[in-house]
Amino acid sequence: MMINQFLATGGLWLNLDDTEILIDPGPGCIVQSTKRKLRAENLSAIILSHRHLDHSADINIMVEAMTQGGFKKHGKLFAPADALETEPVIFSYLKDNLDGVEVLEEGKSYTIGDVSFTTPVRHIHPVETYGMVFKTPGYNFSLIADTLYFDGLTSYYGGELLIINVVFLEPRKPDANISLPADHLSVPDAEHLIEELKPKVAILTHFGMGMWRAKPWEIAERLTEKTGVKVIAARDGMRFELAKLDEG
Ligand SMILES: [Zn+2]
Repeated sequence: MMINQFLATGGLWLNLDDTEILIDPGPGCIVQSTKRKLRAENLSAIILSHRHLDHSADINIMVEAMTQGGFKKHGKLFAPADALETEPVIFSYLKDNLDGVEVLEEGKSYTIGDVSFTTPVRHIHPVETYGMVFKTPGYNFSLIADTLYFDGLTSYYGGELLIINVVFLEPRKPDANISLPADHLSVPDAEHLIEELKPKVAILTHFGMGMWRAKPWEIAERLTEKTGVKVIAARDGMRFELAKLDEG
């Protein structure tokens, strides 16, 4: 998906009571965000769930944009240690333009203005990966980032809104002949998570090619019927107003 760009890989842009946060700036983030008039200089932070290219490729340009080429030094970067150590995803000269870099660790909490988030558990993925639970004055919501499904996963996440990275239609077994990492959630995993966590709304995103061919919006409709939870398939440029969560 990242290579052919059938779907954009720019990440998620949060605006929480005017605290703006960018999550996982993959390839094209600078193009997608400027096209949509999202202003990087308004960002307070960039959070990286993990170092894989489809989540991190545009991190340097987005730090450059957030800090206006170094003229407006501000903002924080949050990332797992293995994205910052041996082979850092961020250039050291750009790091100097930030207010700071914070290392994501299992079970820790972080604050960005009035917003706080936790990274409750290390995911099962080839590199160090965390999902996030956000707490804002108005709403709580979770992002379940890339992971293989594991027992207990549901116990770490919650809130009125659940965003799930669903790459596969069906669970995959690791296959030595295919270099594609199998450590991703599938539609049955997502169904189970939604049923257990019962959010008001669930958004599916980060689709692989098989998911895309299967028409994610139809899958979302089926999951809505099965679970009784409103399930939405993300689209490029989609905006979701958290106030909609109050509409019952
Ligand atoms: Zn990944």
